[in-house]
Formats: sequence, C-alpha cells, structure tokens
Amino acid sequence: MLQNKILKSVLALLIMFTCLSGCSKQETKVDPKGMSYFDFFDTVSFIYSYTNDDMETFQKKCDKVADILEQYHKYFDIYYEYEGVNNLYTLNANAGIKAVEMDDELIEFLLKAKELYYLTNGKTNVMLGAVTKLWHDERTAATNNKADAKLPDFNLLSEANKHVDIDLLVIDKENKTAFISDPEARIDVGAYGKGYAAERAAEYLYDIKAYGYVLNIGGNIRTIGSKMDGSAWTTGIKDPADLNRFALRINIKDIACVTSGVYERYYTVDGKKYHHIVDPLTLYPAEYFDSVSILTKDSGLADGLSTAFACMSYEEGMKLADTLGVDVIWIFKDGTVKYTPNVENLIIGG
Ligand code: ADP
Ligand code: MG
Repeated sequence: MLQNKILKSVLALLIMFTCLSGCSKQETKVDPKGMSYFDFFDTVSFIYSYTNDDMETFQKKCDKVADILEQYHKYFDIYYEYEGVNNLYTLNANAGIKAVEMDDELIEFLLKAKELYYLTNGKTNVMLGAVTKLWHDERTAATNNKADAKLPDFNLLSEANKHVDIDLLVIDKENKTAFISDPEARIDVGAYGKGYAAERAAEYLYDIKAYGYVLNIGGNIRTIGSKMDGSAWTTGIKDPADLNRFALRINIKDIACVTSGVYERYYTVDGKKYHHIVDPLTLYPAEYFDSVSILTKDSGLADGLSTAFACMSYEEGMKLADTLGVDVIWIFKDGTVKYTPNVENLIIGG
C-alpha cells in the first residue's frame, strides 16, 4: 500500500523560506519543523510548521495532510488503479465504453476542472490528454535513451487534437458518474491536480486553525496564515537562466504561489528543449515565457492558471489577471521580469 511506501523525514528548514530581514525576536523562540514526503504527484512535498506545536502535535497534523494528499494522488493517477477506488485511470480506461461511478470529491474536482477551461478561454484543458500523452511518451522514451529523442509526429498530434473537446467529459452530478464519450479522448489533470489537492490540505489546516503552516507541493507553495509574529514568509521565484538563484524574492502570507516553468520537465531534440506545457493552439510546448507564477489564495486556481498564463501573451494575461483579481509574475525568454501592479508591494530587496 502507498501508505507503507511513504518516505518521511524531518528536515532542517530549506533556504526557500528564510526569515525576513529584520524579523522580530519572537520569531527566534519558535522551533520551526519540516517534514518531507516523496510519494505524491511524482514530486517532493514538504510540510512546515512555524508554530509552537510540539513534535507529536506536528506529526499528527502532518499525518492528516499526508492522508489528504494521498487520497487525491490516488484519484488523479492516470497510470495506475487502486483497490476500492475509481480514479482517472478508470475513467480513461472506460472512455467511449461506460460512465464510471466516483466519489463526491472527484466529481467536485471534475466540475471545477471544466470551469477552469472556461475561465482560461480553453488554455488549461484537462481533456488535452490525447495530445499531452504523445509528448509524454516521447519525453519518457528520450529520458530512457537519449538516442531515441524525437518529436511526436505532427500528423499524430493533429489527429489527437480532434479528441480534446471539453464537452467529451460528461459529468452526472445526480448519479455521481463521469464519462468520456469519445474512445480516443483522455483526461490529464497534471496542470491542476497538485494545486487542487494542496488546497484541500490547506482547508483542513484552516479548519483546525493551524495558522503558521506552509505547504510546498513540488514547488507549489501554499501558506496558511502568517508567522507567529504576524510577519510574512519570503519565497523566491527561480531564475530560469540560473536555477541556483532567484529572479525575485517576495513576501507572502495566507496565499498560494504557483509557478509553471519551462525548466521543470523537458527533453532535448537537436539541441532544442521541449518542455511539458502544451499550447492548445500550436500543440507544441508554449513559447511565450520561461516561467509564469500566479499569486492568489486558492492554490488549485493558482496551479490551473499558471499553466494557462504560460500559454497566452503578456497582454492577454494582464487582462485576464485583472478580470480574475490574481497577481502574476512573468519571466520572459530574455530574462525580463514583469508583474501585475500589486506585486510591487510584495517584493523585497534583491
Ligand atoms: P507542473 O506539473 O510542473 O507544476 P503545470 O502545472 O504547468 O506544471 O502542468 C503541466 C502538466 O499539465 C503537463 O505535464 C501535462 O500533463 C499537462 N498539460 C500541459 N499543457 C496543458 C494544457 N494546455 N492544458 C491542460 N493540461 C496541460
Ligand atoms: Mg499548473
């Protein structure tokens, strides 16, 4: 069982969250704790406590957060099925065949995923799975053997693109079923699932008033409350040109900060990098920026939007950010950094 595989370790806190310059003396009295997990969403997850929770209390809260992440990990998995649960693997396996019964939590998520499509003018489309699979398969083949590195056949991409309509995902709220009505269509929630799951974990922490906690799910940050003295945490937006440094450091509290970067997952063909965010218009990796970060309370929304904003121009993104009331940081291919006006208030000295 997954639970048994979970590798955990208490960590010294990473430099990712450094004490603010000039942070109060009160801060030093707190004994911050960190816990890491390696089995969710194909990435590393960290839970940090900046409270006076003793080790046992911290551990209990971490266990509950891990349970939530594990549950959503199982729901969203498109590569494996798990006993006793219909997940997205089951949904894909039954594409064009039959509707699948699902837990309320998964139905709720799928409804939100469809909303996200409309919110982003179709840029984040969880039904793009037939297309993303072609890229994923080539990336995996290239990772296993560099000599195999090649691009997916454009005819195959175009053919797959005939099976990406969001309406192919049919959700029956009353009967709690979902159905993919086209046998060639596939769901892929890589753009949205991690952040959504993190938000469900954040919800739990708010419910038990665990203010002063920070979740870092594969680089998706969700801060719950503030530090005990009311101050913010500092997080860094990586410089895509040099991943060992930050392009920008910002103060955040009670908010999510999620980045989609071209450096996260990619492979190389003829010296050119092909990353994992697919522009639904070109069916190729999005070419606009090196990274886009979204700052907004809901980490699910932040995750869903980070992918969408990576697939639209700065001008289009500015308009959408204004409509949705979210903050955005764009890092262009030439290293230029731009952001929505409010970000100015969050930036701390370089
Ligand atoms: P990460 O998973 O590194 O945080 P993203 O949140 O941007 O990055 O999600 C990228 C993943 O989402 C890809 O690996 C792929 O599975 C899927 N994907 C890529 N492009 C799109 C898109 N335009 N719409 C929906 N899903 C996408
Ligand atoms: Mg995303």
